[in-house]
Amino acid sequence: MEIKIENYYEYVNKENIEKYLVCNICDKPLIEPVMTPCAYVFCRRCIEKSLDDHCARCSSYTKSKHLVVLTDPDILIELDNIQVKCKLCEQMDIRRGYFQNHIYEICPKAIITCSNNENNCSWIGLREELSTHLTTCSYQSSTLDSQKEKHGKFFPYLNIDLQQRNLQNHDVAIAVKALLINQRCTSLDLFNKKISSESASIIASVLDNDILLGIISFRNNLLCDSGVQFIAHALSTNFHLQLLDLNNNSITDIGVRLLAEMLKTNQTLIKLTLSYNRISNEGMTILVDVLINNNSTLRWLSLAGNSSINDLSTHSITNLLRHNTSLTTQKQ
Ligand SMILES: [Zn+2]
Ligand SMILES: [Zn+2]
Ligand SMILES: [Zn+2]
Ligand SMILES: [Zn+2]
Repeated sequence: MEIKIENYYEYVNKENIEKYLVCNICDKPLIEPVMTPCAYVFCRRCIEKSLDDHCARCSSYTKSKHLVVLTDPDILIELDNIQVKCKLCEQMDIRRGYFQNHIYEICPKAIITCSNNENNCSWIGLREELSTHLTTCSYQSSTLDSQKEKHGKFFPYLNIDLQQRNLQNHDVAIAVKALLINQRCTSLDLFNKKISSESASIIASVLDNDILLGIISFRNNLLCDSGVQFIAHALSTNFHLQLLDLNNNSITDIGVRLLAEMLKTNQTLIKLTLSYNRISNEGMTILVDVLINNNSTLRWLSLAGNSSINDLSTHSITNLLRHNTSLTTQKQ
C-alpha cells in the first residue's frame, strides 16, 4: 500500500490559492498534474479513477494514454510553494514540495523505527524520543555509515501497542492521531495514560471522520466533562465506533448530558461503559430518556461504581427495561 503523504498535511490559506492550481475533480491543489487533450487539468490519481474513456469535465473522448503530464516549471514551482500545515506537529510554514522531507526526516511527532533498526533494534516511537532512546539502545552500530541516519525511519503503517510504550497524555494523543491518519487502526487501548481533556480534543479531531476504528478505551484517564464534550461531538459524526469505554474519568451528569445528545444521532455505538465516575440519579434519568426515545442501537450500558446513583433510579431502570428493546445488559 502506498503512503498518501497528503493525509499528513492540510492547506493553510485555501481561499488564496489560484484557481489554475486547483484540480477540476477534487477541488484541491493539483498533485501530479496531468492535462487532457481538451485542456482540463486534474490530479493524475483523480482523473485516472474517474476516467471511463471520457473527460470528467466536458465528456469528450479521452483515454488514459492521451493524458499529458504537466511540466510547466512555473506551475510546478507554484504548487511546491503552497503553504501547508503538518497535522502531526502542527508546524505551519512548510512548503508542500518540502513536506515529504518534513515527515521522513524532521517531524518530531512522526512515528519512526530506531535508526539501528537494521541491526535488529525493534524500538518504535515518536522521532523526538529517538535521541533519548539512542542513549540506551544496545544495537548501536560502530560504523560511521549508520551515524548518518539519526532521524530514524518513518514508519507509517504499524498499529503500535500503546500499552507497551511510556507515552503519556499529549504524546499519546499525537501517536493516536498519527495512527488514525493512516486509517489502519481498528482498536485502541488508552488505559491509564493520564489523558487530559486537551489531549482528548486532539484525539477527537481525527476521530470524527475515522472509518476503521471499532473500539476505543479511555479507562482510567483524566478526561472530565470537558474531554467528554470533544469525544461526544466527534462521535455524533463518526459512524463506525462500536465500543466506547469511559470508566473512571471523573465524568459528572454534565458529561452524561453531552453523551446522551450524541446518542440521539449516533446509531453505531453498541457498548458504552461509564463505571466509576461521578454520575448521579439525574444523569441516569437523562440516559434512560434517550435510550427510550432516541436510540435503539446501544446494547450494553455500564454504570457500576457511581455512588450517587441510588434507589431513586429504580423507577428509571424499570421504565427503561419496559420500553427499550435493544439493551440486553444493564449493570447497576
Ligand atoms: Zn484532484
Ligand atoms: Zn474535456
Ligand atoms: Zn510535522
Ligand atoms: Zn534502538
